[in-house]
Amino acid sequence: MKSMKVNLDKRVASSYDICIGYDVLDRIGLLIAKHMPALHYIVITDVNVSAIYGMKLLGRLREMALPADMIEFPAGEDAKSIGTTVAIVERLIKLGADRKSALLALGGGVVGDVTGFIASTFMRSIPYIQIPTTLVAQVDSSIGGKTAIDLPEGKNLLGTFYQPKGVFIDVKFLDTLPEEEMNSGLAEAIKYGVIDSVEVFDFLERNIEAIKERDRDLLEEMIGNACRIKKGIVEIDEKEMGMRRVLNFGHTIGHAIEAESNFTISHGAAVSIGMVAAARISEGMHDFPRRDRERIEHLLESAGLSCRIPQTITTDGIMTRLRADKKKEGDRIHFVLLKKMGMPFINGGVPEAVLRETVEEMKK
Ligand code: ADP
Ligand code: ZN
Repeated sequence: MKSMKVNLDKRVASSYDICIGYDVLDRIGLLIAKHMPALHYIVITDVNVSAIYGMKLLGRLREMALPADMIEFPAGEDAKSIGTTVAIVERLIKLGADRKSALLALGGGVVGDVTGFIASTFMRSIPYIQIPTTLVAQVDSSIGGKTAIDLPEGKNLLGTFYQPKGVFIDVKFLDTLPEEEMNSGLAEAIKYGVIDSVEVFDFLERNIEAIKERDRDLLEEMIGNACRIKKGIVEIDEKEMGMRRVLNFGHTIGHAIEAESNFTISHGAAVSIGMVAAARISEGMHDFPRRDRERIEHLLESAGLSCRIPQTITTDGIMTRLRADKKKEGDRIHFVLLKKMGMPFINGGVPEAVLRETVEEMKK
């Protein structure tokens, strides 16, 4: 098992470990007791993850004589709601949870976001640990302390920055993860190579076939690379005042496409298309080498992701959503573009004509 420390604001009390390995779940009782002592542990998970891993985690806690309970809720983004949140809190109270209790988020990004949000607000905050089970959560959402739930008016409208006491990643969870979920995570993993590290990009290019075959060691290395890069960025800019924005590479157009498809296109698939759009804009406006743009497209395709915008999505639809973004940001869309591979920058002004042309080009 490998581990790395997240150091925030040089406040020692707020640093915590990310541990990555295969079969981490078998040793997790000890890890939890060590990193987050508490009188009562409550596992929060969704019904799918609960069915495969819930009892196993509870068993690991109870065999170490740690008092533990489990709360499960329906799977899927729709469950990231106020309704779910209140229902979980009511269950916590029934189970006798108090300020000496701690939460364990066992699941994908949805479980992590909801559990983190509840941990940050329940009785004015209690500790929690992330045990991410999807690739998206392992390479991205479980790191960095962003928590949120959705409102009918939009996604992630209610949330906090609240760091966990630890992130324990078991690569074995991925054995049961459906292919499409896996691809979503690969999009984010590729993003780190593009925005931060030519070496990581090269590594993915060399190994994408074996990673698709779910080679354990390579998955572990890929996840380790992602965590190291994300952690480094969060350490510098925990609250997303500046540099952390580079993590949104591919997400501006990505979010527009995701929403325009009524969320039938997954987050990762939409981000893949968004990254291609950003690379193409970078090529046109900032001399990003064509050869590198092609490498990005090729790697995404090898990962099973798309580089094209489906015909069913209209250019006007995308433009309307981008304009709405622009209003929110104060008349500028914060586009993350590329100077070179591994060298992103934030560009405030991509002309509408360029955006439109890029979108049209990608529908051919
Ligand atoms: P994400 O992590 O991509 O943001 P979710 O939290 O919604 O998304 O998880 C995606 C789906 O995968 C959910 O239906 C969830 O129950 C399921 N899931 C999570 N982890 C696993 C796993 N290790 N094996 C199988 N299914 C999983
Ligand atoms: Zn993302």
